[in-house]
Amino acid sequence: MRAPAGKVYIVGAGPGDPELITVKAIRRIGLADVILYDRLVNEELLSYARPGTELVYCGKAPNAHAMPQEQINKTLVAYAKEGKTVVRLKGGDPFVFGRGGEEALELAENGIEWEIVPGVTSAIGAAASAAIPLTHRGKAASFACVTGNRCHGDQEPVRWDLLAHSVDTLAIYMGVSQLGVIREELLKHGKASSTPVAIIEQGTTSKQRVITGTLADIHKLALSMKVVNPALIIVGEVVKVREQLLLAEQQAEAWVM
Ligand code: SAH
Repeated sequence: MRAPAGKVYIVGAGPGDPELITVKAIRRIGLADVILYDRLVNEELLSYARPGTELVYCGKAPNAHAMPQEQINKTLVAYAKEGKTVVRLKGGDPFVFGRGGEEALELAENGIEWEIVPGVTSAIGAAASAAIPLTHRGKAASFACVTGNRCHGDQEPVRWDLLAHSVDTLAIYMGVSQLGVIREELLKHGKASSTPVAIIEQGTTSKQRVITGTLADIHKLALSMKVVNPALIIVGEVVKVREQLLLAEQQAEAWVM
């Protein structure tokens, strides 16, 4: 007899700080028979799992390959077909550069019940913890989440020409290794070289570093500071609000002392 099919929860783990996970996500982790988790997931979150929950790492270990997406999809289906409750735990939000849509499609096509539990995406989390508002009255009325890398094959290139003009704040994921190209594209399409830029490395974690500059100098700064992934690039006037906030804070502290 076949076991009744299980269910797969595709769950956002938030941007790094383990407190930035939702109540719903914690509950789903606690229900799981098996958890497939990614490299960017804070492993502290696995402590919400019941004892005996099977933990499957899908990220890239040193000197090893990440589990290919097709294999992850197949594994999710296989566990669910065994009747298991599966949590697919992903950094940030599963539907923001998380390939959660592909996994949900695979499940739907195989007749498996699935649910998406959203998470705080790293643009939102990292911007908050770097004191950069993504929108700000008088500075930015729009923001876009953009990928800085297009190595997944078949997609169209990012329209830097349009983004340079039509969006006030750019939050660029997976852009560190492409920073030189991104910078050139934005300048070529008319963005001022004085446009402020911030890079937030390991945002929301205790290891967070924030590097600020302008389109003119950010690439050199990033190289000299040896920025590594995960890091988010924010381009736009809102980066200046961080300086205002830090200055105001310093002044307030000076008053108190
Ligand atoms: N689904 C994720 C994004 C996955 S793509 C989300 O919603 O956040 C991976 C990229 O996310 C990284 O290359 C980096 O640009 C960004 N990222 C993830 N965690 C981050 C963090 N703690 N700080 C800064 N950027 C982060």
